[in-house]
Amino acid sequence: MSHVSSRFASFGSSVFTEITAAARRAGAVDLGQGYPTWEGPDLVKQAAVDAIWEQSNQYPPPTGLPVLREAIASRWKIDTGMEADPDTEITVTSGCTEALAATVLGLVEPGDEVVLIEPFYDSYPVCVSMAGARVRSVVLRPPDFAVPLDDLARVFNDMTKVIIVNSPHNPTGRVFSPEELDGIADLCRRHDAIAVTDEVYEHMTYDTEFARIASREGMWERTVSLSSTGKTFSLTGWKTGWAIAPPHLTEAVRAAHQFLTYTVPNPMQWGTAAGLRADQTYFDDLRTDYKRRRDHLAAGLGSVGFNVFLPQGTYFMLADHTGFGTRTDVEFVRHLIEDIGVAAIPPSFFYTDPSDGADLVRFAFCKDDKTMDTALDRLQEGLAE
Ligand code: PMP
Ligand code: GLN
Repeated sequence: MSHVSSRFASFGSSVFTEITAAARRAGAVDLGQGYPTWEGPDLVKQAAVDAIWEQSNQYPPPTGLPVLREAIASRWKIDTGMEADPDTEITVTSGCTEALAATVLGLVEPGDEVVLIEPFYDSYPVCVSMAGARVRSVVLRPPDFAVPLDDLARVFNDMTKVIIVNSPHNPTGRVFSPEELDGIADLCRRHDAIAVTDEVYEHMTYDTEFARIASREGMWERTVSLSSTGKTFSLTGWKTGWAIAPPHLTEAVRAAHQFLTYTVPNPMQWGTAAGLRADQTYFDDLRTDYKRRRDHLAAGLGSVGFNVFLPQGTYFMLADHTGFGTRTDVEFVRHLIEDIGVAAIPPSFFYTDPSDGADLVRFAFCKDDKTMDTALDRLQEGLAE
């Protein structure tokens, strides 16, 4: 008999854990889980090492070290032109994952409804389940993965408490347009709902304007903006994130955060503060570098015969695998890992109805050229006619 509570039982084990383990067992080249094959910048790592020796290693304040909250406010001002008060509007969390959990648990009552946009990052529906709330969702569909505003208008109602918006979007790579965000904002205002926006890929957008829901008209008052260190500084293991929101919403995030993790390790907070204060060139170079990797992988997959959906953001790309003869994404990925020696993510795990993702496969390009080229060689040999 399983002892897993009903809040988690239907979600099984994380697809990322499963695929990473399967890739290691099979000796496959891993274009699955989104972790870079390189380590983060020396400036950031050294600041964390220095902090261990020179700063306190005892409990930091639960809301986050002032040095980090001030650095987050300063970067937010550069990126958005908006002011956020480090004392009352910024909370440091254990990665964006905890920021999501704290925000949903802090704001949502049992019986409320939370709107999700599919495909969704796997922790979203679990957070909703933990809060005892109900998921209502809409689906982004290929080839353009546009936000279906009419469908969205049908799922919003007076029970809607929150919509979780992820842009740049994992796994499609969409960066939602200002018009799409205005459509979402309009529904939030009409139904008195709150937008929780996951912007962990905020510095990875390519040839496209990145608009944020918090800066749409009338939305600052009803938005919680989330991000983290992992992607921006290639330090996915640091699990240091934050929530930016007006005081009345920050209060709810903090109410949950103080009992979920209480506080976040000191050294990572010092390191992240140093990273956020880095010159603008760091952020510009990151974007340029990822754009090159994106184009390299897209061209390679295209010549293997995949129909690639070129991402506007993130370090992921979706492709259609149906030209290669397997039925589902899960079968296709099993074939890739076991017979071809390349790991990827089957996107059906990001949908309520797995058949919505069955034709797709997700590849990550946060990988060095040798890793990507080895994967492309194997795909070419194993799949191309
Ligand atoms: N949101 C999205 C969309 C992600 O892809 C990830 C991947 N790590 C996270 C949140 C989690 O971020 P963190 O590692 O900071 O918890
Ligand atoms: N965000 C990463 C991805 O989408 C995975 C994070 C995790 O393993 N939970 O690949």
